[in-house]
Amino acid sequence: MYDIVVIGSGPAGLSAAITARMRSKSVAVISNLRTGSGLYKAPKVDNYPGFPAISGAELLNKFSLHAAGTGAEIIQGRVTSILPMGEQFGVSYGSEIAAAKAVILATGVVQTSLFPGEEALLGSGVSYCATCDGMLYRGKKVCVVCLSPDAEEEAAFLESIGCEVVRLTTKNIVINGEHKVASVTADGVEIPCDGVFILRPSIAPATLVPGLLTAGGHIQVDPRMRTNIPGIFAAGDCTGAPYQVAKAVGEGLVAALSAVEYLAGAK
Ligand SMILES: Cc1cc2nc3c(=O)[nH]c(=O)nc-3n(C[C@H](O)[C@H](O)[C@H](O)COP(=O)(O)OP(=O)(O)OC[C@H]3O[C@@H](n4cnc5c(N)ncnc54)[C@H](O)[C@@H]3O)c2cc1C
Repeated sequence: MYDIVVIGSGPAGLSAAITARMRSKSVAVISNLRTGSGLYKAPKVDNYPGFPAISGAELLNKFSLHAAGTGAEIIQGRVTSILPMGEQFGVSYGSEIAAAKAVILATGVVQTSLFPGEEALLGSGVSYCATCDGMLYRGKKVCVVCLSPDAEEEAAFLESIGCEVVRLTTKNIVINGEHKVASVTADGVEIPCDGVFILRPSIAPATLVPGLLTAGGHIQVDPRMRTNIPGIFAAGDCTGAPYQVAKAVGEGLVAALSAVEYLAGAK
């Protein structure tokens, strides 16, 4: 059980992890590959104090080394759900679940519009995690919407356990079915199937955490980076513009301090 699990290893998440470790909290940062951060793609960052003309990848590397050096555990994985379990949270990634007393969301901007039918059939044939739910479809036909770097690995896993897999790479998807998935329409072609695995690099915050308040795709927070769910905090691009490193780092710090305060009250 960790005191704090941070989702996302961009500037906001790593800043939060560093501050939480300074306050002696046990911290895990669970994140996609570093290349998933917007910062990794910045050829040159000119407005982060102290590091003029540094490349985004180099700055991110420095943040990452700093966070790891404080003792934060950096775990590679795509988080698929965060669920309250009594006084703690269960953070699912791959086939694993990490338990945390508090969670900080630092997932960056998620430009994800859901496919028609996706929300209504989530858990009734729609899944975001082959490793978690694959066994339910053994011997059955499933569509895999391959939009994330790990999608091929997940599709191959489904085949290895005996699923008939149809790989789809289009975003023109409609999921059909009354109470459970009956078929997927991809680029106008209907494919009968028992399930559909949608593998995106990111998952919309409100899908990740049921009941989380968002507006315009951004997580709603108060000035102390508290969300509407006690024990869950958010920082960085996921809370809204300006999408800038300095803002993300500052919010990460505030979120960590608020999480530490929450943990003190929770004792
Ligand atoms: C080309 C470009 C140039 C830029 N130039 C500048 C600049 O010069 N100056 C500046 O200040 N800002 C710049 N930015 C913006 C800056 O990169 C962002 O503001 C900053 O990276 C936001 O940090 P963050 O931690 O909130 O999110 P991110 O850096 O996006 O990190 C979020 C991380 O969370 C991971 N993640 C998301 N969902 C999940 C999940 N479900 N499970 C596991 N991991 C997940 C993502 O893969 C990613 O690694 C630039 C951005 C781009 C794209």
